[in-house]
Amino acid sequence: MNDRALHKIVIVGGGAGGLELAAKLGRQFGPAHVTLIDQSDSHIWKPSLHEVAAGTLDIHREDLSYFMLARDCGFTFVLGEMKGLDRQGRTVQLKAVHDDHGNPVLPDRSVPYDTLVLAIGSKSNFFGTPGADEHAIALDSTAQAERFRLRLLHEFVTLNRRKAQADDGVLDIAIVGGGATGVELAAELVEACASLVFYGLNALDPRRDIRITLLEGAPRILSALPEKMSATAQRLLEERGIRIHTSVKVTRVNERSLLDSDGREYPADLCVWAAGIEAPAMLATLGLETSRNHQVVVDGRLQTTDSSIFAMGDCAHAPWAGEDRPLPARAQVAHQQATYLKAILASRIRGECAPAQPFRFRDYGSLVSVGHTRGVGSLMGVLSGKSWFVEGLLARLMYMSLHLMHHRAVLGTMRTAALALGRLLMKRGAPRVKLH
Ligand SMILES: Cc1cc2nc3c(=O)[nH]c(=O)nc-3n(C[C@H](O)[C@H](O)[C@H](O)COP(=O)(O)OP(=O)(O)OC[C@H]3O[C@@H](n4cnc5c(N)ncnc54)[C@H](O)[C@@H]3O)c2cc1C
Repeated sequence: MNDRALHKIVIVGGGAGGLELAAKLGRQFGPAHVTLIDQSDSHIWKPSLHEVAAGTLDIHREDLSYFMLARDCGFTFVLGEMKGLDRQGRTVQLKAVHDDHGNPVLPDRSVPYDTLVLAIGSKSNFFGTPGADEHAIALDSTAQAERFRLRLLHEFVTLNRRKAQADDGVLDIAIVGGGATGVELAAELVEACASLVFYGLNALDPRRDIRITLLEGAPRILSALPEKMSATAQRLLEERGIRIHTSVKVTRVNERSLLDSDGREYPADLCVWAAGIEAPAMLATLGLETSRNHQVVVDGRLQTTDSSIFAMGDCAHAPWAGEDRPLPARAQVAHQQATYLKAILASRIRGECAPAQPFRFRDYGSLVSVGHTRGVGSLMGVLSGKSWFVEGLLARLMYMSLHLMHHRAVLGTMRTAALALGRLLMKRGAPRVKLH
């Protein structure tokens, strides 16, 4: 068989959806058929980034090397950031890779494909708010989450020294966006701040000296989720001392404050932006149909206007059967799309007709973590179709199981169990928050 006769599937983006797809296909067809491209050399499950930012999860223990995953799951891994496509010649164009000092590591390259899957996720949308790009930190990548964590640690140390000298200052942390990311980060920060005091920064009283403020544009936090979830999450956050302001439109971010559309000012020594997402702008340059926020428009089978290109996850604008809005940007959607696309792409590799039925999203509900021992959730009854409400430790355990399910789809059951046990044991010998 000559090289071209092999049907080559190339997946760009090894996140919640793309990595699961590459692992499922790789195990069945091997590295000659399946290639994964990512701009980073290691994978982290994106919903964990608020824990990395708060320091309650150590990125150096949590991330998985794509090179290791490629070997274990049977796909080829190519490191590089996609910068464009040659659709005629069917190649993905990658930027050169440089090290931290700007030295070249890999040159510009082209990777050939027969079928391409775009799975490059999304990033924060600042909606053109003046100062946001410069002063607010987004949680789109491990690098940004680490940057926030280090700034938090430095602000803490500085304030602790001032407090030891009888200064009456406070540290204001403002989170713009009361969706799941903002709510989870706020709760995680309360626990991280309490832990930092435990490790010697004890001139501080976190409840008095650290003020966490959540600003939401809609009339309630978690506005995309049922009202009961919003009300419970708000109560749990306020019990932890978090200030919540709803119906607030942030119009400017300054170095140490925020302004809203009514001219009110909110102090913000640290500002996190979690107020909406958009797909990478590069997608709008490929000649494919895209939405206003750069998502690639796909049909019910996740196919773009080019029959050799599919898109999935946050970067795809896909119809939601039975609803008059597109599918939401959630890990659950990306996970189910990976399973669906695996069947279509397997048929392409075998040279058979692909299954004709469109993708149907099965909404199992939503869970939001409100700290390490508490969560809230609204789950869809699989048989009854009705939703039921969960709260507390049960909701938190179910939330954690989503992460394990992702690992299981990639690593298999035994390795996931071994990894989970290993991490549990490692935690016993490590501080509750990362301190360096
Ligand atoms: C803090 C936080 C908490 C969240 N919590 C939840 C939750 O509780 N439940 C839930 O359902 N969802 C949650 N989400 C949303 C969820 O993470 C996303 O919906 C999901 O990760 C989307 O999967 P994806 O595969 O489309 O993209 P991602 O998981 O974002 O993966 C995209 C991949 O593409 C790579 N990439 C990007 N650009 C390029 C390029 N040009 N070239 C090569 N590679 C590229 C990236 O490095 C990344 O590996 C959360 C998100 C955040 C930020």
